[in-house]
Amino acid sequence: MLGTLARYLRILGYDTLYPEESRDAELLFLAYTQGRVLLTRDTRMGTRISPNIFVLKSAVPEEQLKRVVEKFKLKRGENLFTRCLECNTSLVKVVKKEVKGKVPPYVFKSHNKFAKCPKCKKYYWTGTHMKRMKERVKRWEEWMG
Ligand SMILES: [Zn+2]
Repeated sequence: MLGTLARYLRILGYDTLYPEESRDAELLFLAYTQGRVLLTRDTRMGTRISPNIFVLKSAVPEEQLKRVVEKFKLKRGENLFTRCLECNTSLVKVVKKEVKGKVPPYVFKSHNKFAKCPKCKKYYWTGTHMKRMKERVKRWEEWMG
C-alpha cells in the first residue's frame, strides 16, 4: 500500500525496504533487529505501542511523505538519487562506454553521467524524468530542516 512512498524515500536516499506479503510479526522483527521504523497504514498495527511503528492515515503519497519528514525530522541530504528506486540498492557510477547499447541511443548521445544498480542491473541517468523529479524534490525539501 505504501509503494509510492517507498520510492519517494529512496529518491531522497533513505534506506527503505518494501517487503511484499510479509506477516506483521516478520515486519516487526525486521524493524527491531535492523533498527528500522515500520511505516504502515494498518491501524491494527498502531495499537501496538512501539517506537518502531508509525501509522499513516493519509492515502496520498505526498501527504504521507510530509508526515514522515515532520515526524522523523528528515533532512535534505547529499544522498539524493543514490538508491535504486526498484530495489533500494545503492547505485554505482558507471563510465559512459559501459552503457552503450544498454540505454536508448538518444539517451546515450545526450548524457554523460550514468549509474547502475548492481542488483537489478537497471541504469539511471539524469533525464527529463529526473528534471520533473527534481522540481518535486524541491517542494519536499521545503518541509525539511
Ligand atoms: Zn535495483
